[in-house]
Amino acid sequence: MSEKKQSLTIMKFGGSCLQSMDSYRQIASIVKHHMKFTKILVVVSAIKGMTNKLINFYEKSCNEEQDCALTIEDIYNDHFQLIKKLFDEDSNEYRNTLELLQKHIEDLKHLGSLIKLIRPSADIYDLFVSYGERLSTFILSNYFSFHGSKSEVMLSDKIIRTDDNFGRALPLLEETEVLVKEKLLPILMSDNNPIVCVSGYFGSTKDNKISTLGRGGSDLSAAIIAYALRNAYLCKIIYWKDVKGFLDADPRVAEKTSLIKQISYKEAKELAFFGTKVLHPLCLDINEKGNISSEVRFFNEPESEEFTTISKEIIQGDSVIKAITSIEKLSMVTIEGDTMIPLSGTAAKLFSLLGENNINVVFISQSSSENNITFGIEYEDSMKVSFLLRNSDYFGEEWFKVKIDHEISLVAVIGAGILHTPGIAGKVFTSLGNNHINIKAIAQGSSELNFTAIIDRENCKKAVNVLYDAFINRK
Ligand code: ASP
Ligand code: MG
Repeated sequence: MSEKKQSLTIMKFGGSCLQSMDSYRQIASIVKHHMKFTKILVVVSAIKGMTNKLINFYEKSCNEEQDCALTIEDIYNDHFQLIKKLFDEDSNEYRNTLELLQKHIEDLKHLGSLIKLIRPSADIYDLFVSYGERLSTFILSNYFSFHGSKSEVMLSDKIIRTDDNFGRALPLLEETEVLVKEKLLPILMSDNNPIVCVSGYFGSTKDNKISTLGRGGSDLSAAIIAYALRNAYLCKIIYWKDVKGFLDADPRVAEKTSLIKQISYKEAKELAFFGTKVLHPLCLDINEKGNISSEVRFFNEPESEEFTTISKEIIQGDSVIKAITSIEKLSMVTIEGDTMIPLSGTAAKLFSLLGENNINVVFISQSSSENNITFGIEYEDSMKVSFLLRNSDYFGEEWFKVKIDHEISLVAVIGAGILHTPGIAGKVFTSLGNNHINIKAIAQGSSELNFTAIIDRENCKKAVNVLYDAFINRK
């Protein structure tokens, strides 16, 4: 007989939730409320701004800059002030956290002097920057204990295994699952039911070196842990953020926006690609793979019903289009060759050249006459691409014309099922056309989740609003 799985909610708190006495109170009240219904595991980021300070300390240490001592003092003080506010000075928690802080600061100073003797390296960098989460996790766990809840710290290098791509390491999910079962599960299942606090952002390699998951990586840590626990518990993740969730357009561009209450992982990934960085894109992949549903909620209004749920199912509602997005600053490159050069070979050469040089291609579009290829790149890359093409043995030849337009933008309508819904492309054309916005190229993602129009940059804002009215804010 299969037993019903117990529910576990993994809550990720970012740096902006760890700033002041009030925010710790808020965390405690959120956790207490949810504990009535579910087991809780907390994933903790470094306190706000700390990762940047640690990076700064690392860089100064490498360059033997004089004011290293000031930076490390600043790091000490940020934590010290917080500890003073959070705990009574005669409490065990005060003593414990202060002792740990002093020890970690000594370790960092030691590392700082060591780095002057050895060569700077990516693995040492990761070790340096992991200290933000080591400290914040311990502080939060002690805060729970101080207020009478049982809590345990689990440092994530013990349970998250990654590859050795330091600075942007990728999780090794199978190895992690084994470690989580061995080390985390027994604590979660123990009778005294502690609030387990796991450090975000880092894991370790098979040689036990600390490895970080990239900036903003604590979102990813929560996803990795949920994935590893998916068979033991009915897992859900709540990402507590300083935004309400995913919006259906970028408020910096659109006059009207509203919250997307339900979105599928596929659609959310599409939004992340087009610049809506509410969540670390890879964490969306892992949640999708583990079929874990998650919520993005506004930390300042924890009881609000206005939040975004992200799950595997695509719920279409009354509109296929979930959001309008744009990338304002792009460049568009067109390569024309009117000789009979077989385009198959040409396209392969082109995209390998770009790939080898780390150029991110944002869209590709090709006319049916097959004598040209148009593609979009980030504006910042356009000089590099121009140089690469003009100096390449193949594209530098005179039968190719390379044209770069620096003043373009991309607008896209996003939603699952675009390809199966007639009329979307037509409606994009007519709405933009009726508003005198010229479309220079179109592209459709192979994911079938977006339909993209390339326009002049001066029309970007207008185009987003026109499409918003046509697809979302229909009257
Ligand atoms: N502390 C790390 C950063 O600032 C990871 C995180 O906050 O998610 O990038
Ligand atoms: Mg952060």
